[in-house]
Amino acid sequence: MSEKFENWSGSLQFTPEKIMYPQSDDEVIRIVRRAVQAGKTVRMIGSGHSWTPLVKTDSILLSLQKYQGIVSIDRENNIAEVKAGTSIKQLGELLYEQGYAMENLGDIDVQSLAGALSTGTHGTGVNYGTLSTQLEGVTFINGLGEIITCSREVKPELFRAAQVSLGALGVIVRMKIRVVPTFRLKLHTKGANLEETLDRLEDYKREYQHFEFYWMPGTKKVYLKMANPSTDEFRGIGISRVLQEIFLENILLGSLMWVARFIPAFSRMISKIIAASTSENIIVDHSHRIFATVRWIKFNEMEYNIPKEHFKTVIYEMEAAFEREKYQVPFPIECRWVKKDNIMISPASGRDSAYIAIHQFKGMKYDKYFNDMEKIFRKYNGRPHYGKMNSANLANFAKIYPEWESFQSIRKEQDPQGVFLNPYLKGIFGAKMPEKHQHI
Ligand SMILES: Cc1cc2nc3c(=O)[nH]c(=O)nc-3n(C[C@H](O)[C@H](O)[C@H](O)COP(=O)(O)OP(=O)(O)OC[C@H]3O[C@@H](n4cnc5c(N)ncnc54)[C@H](O)[C@@H]3O)c2cc1C
Repeated sequence: MSEKFENWSGSLQFTPEKIMYPQSDDEVIRIVRRAVQAGKTVRMIGSGHSWTPLVKTDSILLSLQKYQGIVSIDRENNIAEVKAGTSIKQLGELLYEQGYAMENLGDIDVQSLAGALSTGTHGTGVNYGTLSTQLEGVTFINGLGEIITCSREVKPELFRAAQVSLGALGVIVRMKIRVVPTFRLKLHTKGANLEETLDRLEDYKREYQHFEFYWMPGTKKVYLKMANPSTDEFRGIGISRVLQEIFLENILLGSLMWVARFIPAFSRMISKIIAASTSENIIVDHSHRIFATVRWIKFNEMEYNIPKEHFKTVIYEMEAAFEREKYQVPFPIECRWVKKDNIMISPASGRDSAYIAIHQFKGMKYDKYFNDMEKIFRKYNGRPHYGKMNSANLANFAKIYPEWESFQSIRKEQDPQGVFLNPYLKGIFGAKMPEKHQHI
């Protein structure tokens, strides 16, 4: 047995038989073929930033941590081919050196590219899809140990499946990403009132390329984050950004969370203190440095995608639940928007979406809060973020994704022996594990 694995939040712990770090297609092919012969399974891991047991295995865990970097850039078509283990942070810097950037990113940049895209990771902005929509082509090693390449033009149905595939079709080794010339973003943050924000929502979403807000649970206070491309001089970076991000958003917020953890009854008061401590701020920096934030505080999270038209109704129902149940939650609720896509099992497939993420500080109770909120999200046709806590099963997924079955057919073609399955995937796909691994 190798060492114990723990995900970012510590909510997932297991000991794989072996962790392998291949550095070439040939090595990956060998690992997959040997696993099939030996009746073992292989699960791929990125940076371990998912809460769901997607990567859990007692067999082989495969990491592309040692397979990072840009392979080539097609400057005519603005497409970069990237090794799938590259971290988003490293990719941002490497692209920047070449005069390019990714058009949109999520909140953090420590995920691997393959890991982030495999669960449909997203940022915010009504004109931007999930990060998977920035994909132009994928190369992976399937369950037969074959190298498969697909793109928008070549095997388009397979490509639509591979864009968000939970590590179920094969080991993604390279990804072609659409890139844009480097640009600066001007980020404006400030506190506001929930009702006013909901009233002005359409204006905010139209006026800002990247708009989101954090709602302090149990209060009427929100924290707005509004960003647009800008040619302004750099501003608010260096020590003042460190002060804002490290001190206020991590050290101070973290200390308040610890108080709430010891005295949960103080949660609402702490939520109010956090709301009162938000100040107005403007930063201008390169896009990849603005999108990403530092997250030292550990928490548990559930996030649901809901059709955008139900957003306000869901917020009102959540508010009513807070009033009724008095959850002891000091951690903000994050609200974002994403453009629809046509990816087979992407949460934003076929619908312009709002995403609502609920959090609880690590070590504090979250079961009832998450369960109650999940009921509300589901009532409005919610689809869970694959990487974040949720209780969806095969029946739920089959109901909320019109193409769930089509994805299964493609999965079976690419992995007929089930070498990439673990008990969790087997459950949500309704699939059989390889015989020697039925016991896991
Ligand atoms: C602090 C924090 C902030 C976050 N912020 C956001 C956010 O802003 N927006 C958002 O949408 N999500 C966010 N997430 C969720 C996160 O982006 C996803 O869970 C993402 O999948 C994690 O990427 P990873 O590299 O850690 O992959 P892992 O969690 O390690 O793996 C995720 C999936 O990718 C598969 N995989 C990994 N590598 C490969 C490969 N080479 N080939 C095939 N499959 C592979 C795995 O098997 C697994 O199914 C956040 C998570 C945390 C902890």
